[in-house]
Amino acid sequence: MTQFTDFGLAQPVLRALEEAGYKSPTPIQAQAIAPAMQGRDLCGIAQTGTGKTAAFALPILHRLAETPRRPIRRGCRVLVLSPTRELANQIAENFSDYGKYLSFTNTVVFGGVTISRQEKALANGVDILVATPGRLMDLIERRALTLEAVEILVLDEADQMLDLGFIHALKRIVKMLPRERQSLFFSATMPKNIASLADQYLRDPVQVAVTPVATTAERVTQEVIFAHTGAKQALLNHILRDPAIERVLVFTRTKHGADRVVRGLEKVGINASAIHGNKSQPQRERALAAFKDGSCRVLVATDIAARGIDVEAVSHVINYDLPNVPESYVHRIGRTARAGANGLAISFCNDEEKAYLRDIERTTRQKIPVAGFPEGFSPPSRQEAADTAQAEERRPAPNGQRPGQRQGQRPSSRPGGRPGQGRGFEGRGGENRGGSGRPSRSDGAARPQDGRGDRRPAAQGEARTEPRGERPRAPRPQGSGEGRAIGWLDRGPRS
Ligand code: AMP
Repeated sequence: MTQFTDFGLAQPVLRALEEAGYKSPTPIQAQAIAPAMQGRDLCGIAQTGTGKTAAFALPILHRLAETPRRPIRRGCRVLVLSPTRELANQIAENFSDYGKYLSFTNTVVFGGVTISRQEKALANGVDILVATPGRLMDLIERRALTLEAVEILVLDEADQMLDLGFIHALKRIVKMLPRERQSLFFSATMPKNIASLADQYLRDPVQVAVTPVATTAERVTQEVIFAHTGAKQALLNHILRDPAIERVLVFTRTKHGADRVVRGLEKVGINASAIHGNKSQPQRERALAAFKDGSCRVLVATDIAARGIDVEAVSHVINYDLPNVPESYVHRIGRTARAGANGLAISFCNDEEKAYLRDIERTTRQKIPVAGFPEGFSPPSRQEAADTAQAEERRPAPNGQRPGQRQGQRPSSRPGGRPGQGRGFEGRGGENRGGSGRPSRSDGAARPQDGRGDRRPAAQGEARTEPRGERPRAPRPQGSGEGRAIGWLDRGPRS
């Protein structure tokens, strides 16, 4: 079996891997690292959870270590494009971890946060820039960034990038890159439009592939529980009372559905937080940090928000709602059983969702075993559930809003209007706002049509630059409006 030492990776990279406890490369790493180290272009089919980030980060760090040079002002040597903020953060953190014994500057920029600090962070140039496309375009238009000296381009989750409407931004970005460059292209799926994009952007690429999207992670035990909509919350509450469920990701189809589930859990004393497109960046980061450090064991997420979240030891994934896109199911359950651990994915399925279940089973080519209600659980009748839902509807929200109503949104004028009516829906096309049917950008920075950024002044948050020579710092608490450093990289080994 291939070992990391077989690749001839730079010593400081090997040392960081050893410290991270990585014993051997994952299949995508085994295929991708050697050609990427040689400077070859790559076209990789791999989803999050397969170790794909290290598959491109390790050879990139190695190459930078081999050719140390100062980045040009307002430039970067490596550009990594990510469709979402969460994934961008994750990637930047991975670079910091794997490169902790090397000296590189590493910055992540995305929309929805103050741009001026990002401009400052880029002023002297950075080695590695991880960016969402919308904000990247904004920075270029403001002349805070130039792509003329990019040596390596990584396009991560290309399918998601297209789904979110970043195609125009992407095309404009690639046009600004030097022709002479290395390009590494990753996508969980490779439909025709993605393949033709890869064709345009890659030169004689090495093709690497693992886990076709229709294959669900092998080590995930799956089950489905049939429950009517009104019984789902009680069922979830019951399941989560089991302390053996250490860290659980709960998926809902909508943003308001996620908030409702959190409220339902809190009512029975279960601490949970939600992560979705209506949450501010600091809120998302706080929720994610609490989930990662174990202070909050239940994270309720929508598909888009959860994409790319890499949290170790997620013991359970619960599909509170079944996704209407089978691939989303595969992505969701891929959050558990990562890098060799075992996991359990439980899906709740009501009558309307049975068609989704059939699609999922057809796509994954496997039947999901049906489980009964857990011991000691008796579901509320449909009538009881309807009464509870109505009581929830009447409950005054602390800020004067009705449940499910966002600021600036009028209460439903329809008699008996339920919370969540007219709500945004998160499906394959991204997060829609206010049920307008228009996909919004998950990086909060760019518009789908022209790929340019939204110019809203952002309240807080920051570009995160890691200045040369500083020691790694723990993330500061969010919400201060302060810039933050991520993992900083000393030159040479630490004492
Ligand atoms: P990714 O697909 O990049 O999101 O990685 C999924 C998870 O696998 C992350 O938590 C990585 O830290 C972990 N990982 C990546 N490569 C390895 C490896 N070779 N051995 C063990 N864990 C790994």
